[in-house]
Amino acid sequence: MTASVQVDALTRRFGRVTALDAVSLELEAGEFAVLLGPSGCGKTTLLNIIGGFLDASSGSVHIGGRDVTGLTASQRPTTTVFQDYALFPHMTIAQNVAFGLRMRGEARGPRLARASEMLDLVGLPGMERRRPHELSGGQRQRVALARALAVRPEVLLLDEPLGALDLKLRRAMQDELKTIQREVGTTFIHVTHDQEEAMAIADRIVVMNAGRIEDQGPPERIYLRPATPFAAAFMGEINTIPGTAADGGIVTPLGVVTVAHELTTGQNAVLCVRPEHLLGRGPALGEVTIRDGAFFGTHTRVHLQAEGLPTLVAHLPIGAETSPGTTLAVTPDPDALFILPGESQ
Ligand code: ATP
Repeated sequence: MTASVQVDALTRRFGRVTALDAVSLELEAGEFAVLLGPSGCGKTTLLNIIGGFLDASSGSVHIGGRDVTGLTASQRPTTTVFQDYALFPHMTIAQNVAFGLRMRGEARGPRLARASEMLDLVGLPGMERRRPHELSGGQRQRVALARALAVRPEVLLLDEPLGALDLKLRRAMQDELKTIQREVGTTFIHVTHDQEEAMAIADRIVVMNAGRIEDQGPPERIYLRPATPFAAAFMGEINTIPGTAADGGIVTPLGVVTVAHELTTGQNAVLCVRPEHLLGRGPALGEVTIRDGAFFGTHTRVHLQAEGLPTLVAHLPIGAETSPGTTLAVTPDPDALFILPGESQ
């Protein structure tokens, strides 16, 4: 089961705080969407309004084209997986997974068969008779997922579902979540503040900041061509080099960068380059000096200094000269750098 989700001009105030500020979003049926943003940006508020746990101050929610704005959580075709799993400790795993079906009056046989099917899906076959305390954290999280999917929701809402897991398990579960989502085809809306997690699982990342959507699109587009400086910085490390727009390029303290842009001549601009693209295959700009470096396994991350610029960060291949004091030319890959408007004077 799957459905589209349409959110129109949702605003939610808590006293003086505007947690959501006229947020609109359209998701296609079967999409894996990730709401990404820093603590307090409104992710959970948006998820809870879609799920029917919270009323909006204004705006509407449609699921599968149907207006669900006035419906309670149980009347909506959604289920939610919370970070704390919320399993019933006195019930077996099968009873936990079948709980929603029992509430709907489904007979015992079919609902336990469905529970077993869901446990197979999440990689826990044969666990039916165990109780939650006999499982690891990762296994409990899978049970919570199986329970949410057992009732065949059209939309599954996940609120930091992997937040309590250690990093290695978290990465493994991200891959599994994506595989399971592909298999069931249900629309998933997943909340996280971890940009790596977002990139690992999302078809569409929705970057939120202070109650608004800053940018949304496929992970690759948001990483390589973010719409705003906030989205650029939240998606990973970024070098921002101030400059001024000129005909056919940007004038920076490192020299003129030939690049297409839509700014007017003389307008302040910010040249944005990810660390892995700063010392690339582009034409040489000005020189920088290595201040220090650290080994990261796949690369060495160095801090670079140049006259009139903030400290820059670059990734150098293993084996490259990285001693402090080494001088290098900045050669950003032309395809990988992007221009954002700077602060107006
Ligand atoms: P986190 O990642 O920390 O969970 P979030 O992005 O999910 O953050 P929300 O929980 O949606 O953020 O909160 C958005 C804003 O609304 C915050 O400023 C928060 O303090 C405020 N807020 C949320 N719920 C309430 C509430 N029940 N009463 C008052 N203020 C609230």
